[in-house]
Amino acid sequence: MRSHYCGELNETHIDQEVELCGWVHRRRDHGGVIFLDMRDREGIAQVVFDPDTEESFAEAEKVRGEFVLRIKGRVRNRPEGTVNAEMKTGAVEVLGKELTILNRSETSPFQLDEYTNVGEEVRLKYRYVDLRRPEMLEKLRFRSKVTSNIRNFLDAEGFLDIETPILTRATPEGARDYLVPSRTHPGQFFALPQSPQLFKQLLMVAGMDRYYQIAKCFRDEDLRADRQPEFTQIDIETAFLEEQDIIGITQRMVTNLFRDLLGVDLGEFPHITYAEAMSRFGSDRPDLRIPMELVDIKDLMQKVDFKVFSGPANDPKGRVAALRVPGGAQISRKQIDAYTAFVSIYGAKGLAWIKVNDLAAGLEGLQSPIIKFMPDDVVQQLVERLGAEDGDILFFGADKEKVVNEALGALRVKLGEDLQMMEREWAPCWVVDFPMFETLDGGGLTPLHHPFTAPSCSVEELQADPQNALSRAYDMVLNGTELGGGSIRIHDQDMQQQVFRVLGIDEAEAQEKFGFLLDALQFGCPPHGGLAFGLDRLVMLMTGASSIREVIAFPKTQSAACVMTDAPGEVNNEQLRELSIRIRKPVAEEN
Ligand code: ASP
Repeated sequence: MRSHYCGELNETHIDQEVELCGWVHRRRDHGGVIFLDMRDREGIAQVVFDPDTEESFAEAEKVRGEFVLRIKGRVRNRPEGTVNAEMKTGAVEVLGKELTILNRSETSPFQLDEYTNVGEEVRLKYRYVDLRRPEMLEKLRFRSKVTSNIRNFLDAEGFLDIETPILTRATPEGARDYLVPSRTHPGQFFALPQSPQLFKQLLMVAGMDRYYQIAKCFRDEDLRADRQPEFTQIDIETAFLEEQDIIGITQRMVTNLFRDLLGVDLGEFPHITYAEAMSRFGSDRPDLRIPMELVDIKDLMQKVDFKVFSGPANDPKGRVAALRVPGGAQISRKQIDAYTAFVSIYGAKGLAWIKVNDLAAGLEGLQSPIIKFMPDDVVQQLVERLGAEDGDILFFGADKEKVVNEALGALRVKLGEDLQMMEREWAPCWVVDFPMFETLDGGGLTPLHHPFTAPSCSVEELQADPQNALSRAYDMVLNGTELGGGSIRIHDQDMQQQVFRVLGIDEAEAQEKFGFLLDALQFGCPPHGGLAFGLDRLVMLMTGASSIREVIAFPKTQSAACVMTDAPGEVNNEQLRELSIRIRKPVAEEN
């Protein structure tokens, strides 16, 4: 139907007859001449109809925004003074000769360039209109380039692209499962995969050696900011490679991607242990663009006359730490109050501070509601340890270790953004040496990654001291976002069973849930490991999008629904009957 894309036209096409197809972006009547901006995937071209071409002019008069047209015409230079340098095709226009209306359109739910006037619900309801916006189109085009770049890389490295089932058994990754009732097995359910974890491990048992898949994963998580119930992973697994090999391949993959698509050199990826990351940044996904670190002052605060500090300082599970903010003395009381409210989200009960106005003036030069509770020599040591300088503010956290890490860790990032302290555009790193388990509030242990992650100790050591066992897991972090994570896996049945035991999964349950894996471990399972990258987050970071919803063609809302298709939806009684399902009152109502 077309000879060129609208957005393709330029001066090399002058005097050529062209045929364009697309949507009416804008229509303007100018003293008897009609200008149509025609838009397609590649951009916009200006088409002019004058009354001399009577028939097509009459058609052009009927045209409205978002009508679908096919036009024929001749490319010419725009008259002097009307060249639009902002526009890719702005030097030329098409003198329209024929116009066919291929389809009409109702008045668009919103003007493409006025999308900010409507809420996200409207954009999602009419997503097919929203996706016509050039910015959205660009993001999806970019996403397509990312996947093809990654496929090319992994193909060249000898990886096989293998699909794994969507209807399967639960794969624990720490979220709830989406369940699908089975008609042929009444009362039984499939689970949608939280990740292809177990299947990719079985592919290693099968000898595929190097696997990848751009895989959909499904996790029914509590509503947290910027999560999607279904999302995409670049899922990778290899056999007979050690951590460093896997880290090496995938780092090259990401480095090449940034070089090819953004012209960015990511440089070195420092390796930081989990313990160090928590201690220096209060987070296992440190944003290394921000030149500030948490400093421990627990030892200094054990004897002070200030319970808020001395309490946690004497608690083995407590932490007392400080954050020096260069130039932060200019932060107003009002702003400090706002930061205090901010850290309270993470459970901090307050936010103590000291402003360093004039070090030379000694204690007089410090301004703070708390120094009166501290002996002079403690204040002196504090200032020295933090390397404080005139104009700084020091913020403090004192509480259980977890609260201090989360509160000061988040504050560090917030201040880094608010005070525009980012030193570089991109700061990648690897976080390694994660603990195997996390302690649950009730006291039990839960895997920090998933229960198939290999510990870096022996079965006996794991049994003796699971709390302190480290794992052979690694996460790639970029700008404070976890881009991907993985591990060397357990390939030994005894070790796998020991991990299940630590998690309180008894043999019968392990057999019921993961019998197929335990079986496979007995049939020549090679040492193996891999990782998975979150594609949505990767594309979001690379395009500078504000949310993963912006880089997914048809995302769900924050309440895990699709406002366009109205999913999830009810099903009729007949369907329920076939599935042997009867609907009870929703849990919320029962309670
Ligand atoms: N299955 C893991 C996840 O989805 C990634 C991995 O360990 O390879 O987070």
